[in-house]
Order: sequence, then structure tokens, then C-alpha cells
Amino acid sequence: MLDPFDRRISYLRVSVTDRCDLRCVYCMAEDMTFLPKKDLLTLEELDRLCGAFIDLGVDKIRLTGGEPLVRKGVLQLFQNLGGRIGPREQGGGLKELTVTTNGTQLPKMADDLYRAGVRRINVSLDTLDPTLFANVTRWGKLDQTLDGVFAAKAAGLAVKINAVALKGVNEHEYDRMIAWCGEHGFDLTLIETMPLGDISGDRTDQYLPLSEVRRRIAQRWTLLPSSHVTGGPARYETVQETGRRIGFITPMTHNFCESCNRVRLTCTGTLYMCLGQEDAADLRAPLRDPSVDDAGLRDAILSAIARKPKGHDFVIGRAQRPSVGRHMSVTGG
Ligand code: SAM
Ligand code: SF4
Repeated sequence: MLDPFDRRISYLRVSVTDRCDLRCVYCMAEDMTFLPKKDLLTLEELDRLCGAFIDLGVDKIRLTGGEPLVRKGVLQLFQNLGGRIGPREQGGGLKELTVTTNGTQLPKMADDLYRAGVRRINVSLDTLDPTLFANVTRWGKLDQTLDGVFAAKAAGLAVKINAVALKGVNEHEYDRMIAWCGEHGFDLTLIETMPLGDISGDRTDQYLPLSEVRRRIAQRWTLLPSSHVTGGPARYETVQETGRRIGFITPMTHNFCESCNRVRLTCTGTLYMCLGQEDAADLRAPLRDPSVDDAGLRDAILSAIARKPKGHDFVIGRAQRPSVGRHMSVTGG
């Protein structure tokens, strides 16, 4: 599946719900309005759509949200998609099934995720300070997320910690997080805040360029070049002292679009060909149209991919408005 710029589209991110049990300050307003449940695709519909993408050449699927693990019955979707991991000739096609989660549900779900075929997960954790964690997530408790992280490790899942770089909030903590990740065998990825969705506040205050963060980290740690690629947007280096990788996702300071291999599907069946653009394709209509068969569904996907734009044009702080109206929790991080 090639887009107009000859990029091979092999990676699908699926937001299985826009709901969440936390309210991270950079992601959501505290009084978020969620989509009416009737607008959501059923898990069977999501499964069929993902299957069509796999048939078209997608070999990596990440389930995200919102908080993917709070969607009722989501394990069945993991199990069905996990069944497609393996060689294409044998009905497989997927190389990897993974998930981005805030970790709260992992104590009860980590083993099942492993059994379903998940091998790597991303857990969002912006700080190791309990008070700061409560402030950033508004409703979260650090211990609950840490229990989730260690349940994942115990289940055999490789854990990558994702932290959003927040100016004046967690910027003094990266050394501690690098050391902690090293101690427990986790990779770490730092993410720049992106202007997605209204969060009832000014994002100019939160924005911290990772070029600056990296410069400070490099004063304390030895960063070695790494050729590690995950198919995602992070650029990796190895921290010599810990032997673990550190990744930087810099949508604001570095244009990462030229190698983009991703598209994003929302829980209502809308396909966004770019995280940072408004253009989207409605796949729910063909999915629910009894006259459209699997081949017709694949055609609808292909004509959406043919509209994938060259890149995004985020601007932080422009008139205090988000440059893209929808939240990360809708499009899927
Ligand atoms: N609830 C799950 C979690 O927190 O990992 C999955 C969804 S969350 C939207 C996915 C990722 O997006 C998280 O790592 C989160 O920190 C990040 N994120 C949310 N809003 C963001 C924003 N405005 N800019 C940059 N990253 C953001
Ligand atoms: Fe929920 Fe994840 Fe957004 Fe935090 S970042 S509010 S955990 S969806």
C-alpha cells in the first residue's frame, strides 16, 4: 500500500475508545465530553476493519485511545488480531501487535495481553514523583501505574516508558527517569507536546523543545548512536551508562513526516491519514453498507491512502488555539 509520496503504509494505530480513566493536563480538559456510545464501532467492526488493513499490507497494529484497556471486551480484539501474527501465506500478515496504555489496568490484564501475542508495550509515565503524577494526570495514582508497569515486566512484555516533556513540570526529572529505566530494563521515549484539541489552557506554557532537553541530558549521560528502528516516529540513541535506549519524538522541532508509514483509525471508523491534518475518510459508512463486500472495503481504504498528505504543520501558541481541533485521545497517540 503506497501513498502519493511513495511511502509504504504498513503501520495502523487504532483508537479503540476516546474514553479514559485519567485526565492528563496536556491531553484532556477535566470535563471532557466523550463521544456518544452509539457512534462507536463495535469490537467486531474494528476487527473487520483491521483485517482489511492487514490484507492490504499493514504488518504492525497498535491499539491506543483514550485508554484502550478500559474498553469493555477489548481483550477479544487483542486475541483476534493476535491470531493474525505470523506469515502471510498462512493467513497471518501481522509482525507485531502492540498497545499504548496508561498502565492502570495492566495488573489484571498483562498476562492476557502476552497470551494474545503482544510482546512490547508502551506505558505513559511522565514523572516518578507521586504528587506531580497526581497533578499531571489529575485522577491518577503513581502506585497504580507502577504496579501496572511491573506486572507487564513480570508477564514477559518489553516495556517502553513514554514521557511527555513538559516545561516547568517534569523537566528536572529526566536524569532520574533515565536511571530508573536503566535499573529496571525499560527503554524511554520523550515526546514533545503537540497542539491537539482544546485543553482549557495555554500550551505555549507547556512546550519544551526536545533539542534543548537532549542537550541537557547529554551533559550527564553518554548518548551513543543507535540504529534501532521500531517503525514509529522516534529517533533512538543508547545511554552508554545504562545500556538502554532513549528515544526522542520531535514533531515540533523536527519534521518527521518524510518517513511516515502510519495512518490512524478512530473508534468511530474515521481514518486520519495524518495526525496533524484535518482531512479524513469515513470508513464506517462502507463498513456498515451491506452492499459493500471486503473488496469494496479495501477499495475505500486505498482511496483514502491516495489522499495522504505530505506532512503536518503544527504551530504552538498560535492565538492559543490548537492547530488541530481534535484531541490526541480521539485520533490515538
Ligand atoms: N491512554 C494511553 C496513554 O496515555 O498511554 C494511550 C493514549 S495517549 C493519547 C497516547 C500518548 O499520547 C501518551 O503517551 C500521551 O502522553 C501522549 N499525548 C497525549 N496528548 C498529547 C499531546 N497533546 N502532545 C503530545 N503527546 C500527547
Ligand atoms: Fe488518558 Fe492517555 Fe490522555 Fe492521559 S494521555 S488523559 S492516560 S488518554
